[in-house]
Amino acid sequence: MTEEVKLTVLASLFTWIQRIRPSARKRSKFRKFLDTFCKPSDYFSAMRLILPSLDRERGTYGLKESVLALCLIDALGMARDSPDALRLINWRKGGANTGANAGNFALVASEVLQRRQGTASGGLTIKELNDLLDRLASAENRAEKTAILSTLINKTNAQEMKWVIMIILKDLKLGISEKSIFQEFHPDAEDLFNVTCDLKLVCEKLRDRSQRHKRQDIEVGKAVRPQLAMRVRDPVAAWKKLHGKEVVVECKFDGDRIQIHKNGIEIRYYSRNFLDHYEYGHGMSNVIAQNILVDRCILDGEMLVWDSTSNRFAEFGVSITLDYGLDVAFDVLYVGDTSVIHQSLKERHELLKKVVKPLKGRLEILVPNGGLNSHCPPGEPCWSSLAHSVNDVERFFKETIENRDEGIVIKDLSSKWEPSDRSGKWLKLKPDYIRAGSDLDVLVIGGYYGSGRRGGEVAQFLVGLADRQDPNAYPRRFLSFCRVGTGLTDDELETVAKKLKPYFRKYEYPKKMQPSFYQVTNHSKERPDVWIESPEKSIILSITSDIRTIQSEVFAAPYSLRFPRIDRVRYDKPWHECLDVQSFVELVHSSNGT
Ligand code: ATP
Repeated sequence: MTEEVKLTVLASLFTWIQRIRPSARKRSKFRKFLDTFCKPSDYFSAMRLILPSLDRERGTYGLKESVLALCLIDALGMARDSPDALRLINWRKGGANTGANAGNFALVASEVLQRRQGTASGGLTIKELNDLLDRLASAENRAEKTAILSTLINKTNAQEMKWVIMIILKDLKLGISEKSIFQEFHPDAEDLFNVTCDLKLVCEKLRDRSQRHKRQDIEVGKAVRPQLAMRVRDPVAAWKKLHGKEVVVECKFDGDRIQIHKNGIEIRYYSRNFLDHYEYGHGMSNVIAQNILVDRCILDGEMLVWDSTSNRFAEFGVSITLDYGLDVAFDVLYVGDTSVIHQSLKERHELLKKVVKPLKGRLEILVPNGGLNSHCPPGEPCWSSLAHSVNDVERFFKETIENRDEGIVIKDLSSKWEPSDRSGKWLKLKPDYIRAGSDLDVLVIGGYYGSGRRGGEVAQFLVGLADRQDPNAYPRRFLSFCRVGTGLTDDELETVAKKLKPYFRKYEYPKKMQPSFYQVTNHSKERPDVWIESPEKSIILSITSDIRTIQSEVFAAPYSLRFPRIDRVRYDKPWHECLDVQSFVELVHSSNGT
């Protein structure tokens, strides 16, 4: 019985696979393990530990690293402020405390465990481990979880416990792909998993490697691994890739992938990682029941939720209260009693129009010349459109980006929908966002009045970068860079605004000109309400952000920022030491290369 196999055997398999190269040797080690230690009738008990991220039989543990750290500290009876407890809590940080293992929770934990656990194997079997993991997943509170972890610690040594922790975190870092493991297990395993997302079923049906399994189609009620999009660099690359095809360009919505399965009155929702979305279903089921016009159907789409910070849905600006979600169905995979994934996207769009009755703001369909498009007032961006040339793609991309959306998806209208495929039937094009490694120290050059509570007072700032022509002289020109308002407390913001107030000037008449030190773009209407009369009166703000590596249309600097936040006010730094455009461009390029 596989289940009687000791965890120590599995732990050494993992250690071996992790160490040896190349991949073929890793695979044969795995095969040998299956042949020597596992009974085909219960492959699943081992496979769920080898591919923990694909196991849907037990729920989630609710143990991300930070909570797991606290549970382990309690399970080991350590004081919260002891050096080892701090090591676990600060597992991400490098430095003297955590050493070379920083950033890898399981390794940091095993370092701590080594000092407390013996080296002799604890003798735990695979069955016992699975039982304890079941209990861990159903434990209701932290105390229960801690008690189960404590049992696990008592029955393992540090090496074994390290792998248990990796199983709990669902990432074994073995350096072997899930694809290779599936292939080694059975030649049809990956295909079957892709259309069922059911590891147990795969293990039960495919016990004999020499017996091929007939290709299975998708079914209502079983999650399917989603069709994915290949990333492309720019519109030209996209156009080249889909050369000669009929192409649709769609907005890439910034929500979560959702698969909706309607089977009579039963409606289920699956996430990108084929998890059941119970809580989401709660708000949508009536809408789905009434607006999907067939009895059985699978829709593929994106779900969006209300974004309370920007007070709008990610994409639509439809104001509906917090509890509601919006589904945008961009594909249909099953209608009546037939899978339609083998039909072309163009045909599936026609089906989508027949199957779904759109309900504004709750359930929308994304098809060219219909669905969401029909809601687009003239001049407003559209969400889906046919593209006849690379210019069409380019234009659509630009419009989408200006609208602050995530990017676009470009699809081959003649393509089938294929589970887990990323071969290029769908392409995604996003502006490149890179995280600035350090804070950016930028100069306030203007201000925007707030509304409501902050009405009449400057509540946001226009910040600029220096254009440093001569490294030995103070900069005399500043390029508008971005608008920033969040990050400071009300008090901090008020202090900055108060300090700058005497220097704020409205330059309204005769034209909306600005002081000659500041440069903005010609085609942009982006002007602050007030300007700082001259740069030497101003203050440096340290901001953090993702950098959007596309040409900025709105501000004068060559790149713009995404979600900038003020980190702190640099009262200590003189105005002329603010970041300059040249250094910023270098920073963007060097981060791009990593
Ligand atoms: P990303 O983080 O870029 O979303 P990903 O790996 O989750 O990447 P990809 O297949 O690379 O997924 O990108 C496609 C994803 O984009 C889909 O999973 C879906 O959630 C989302 N999406 C948003 N709008 C669309 C659309 N119109 N068509 C297809 N996918 C869309």
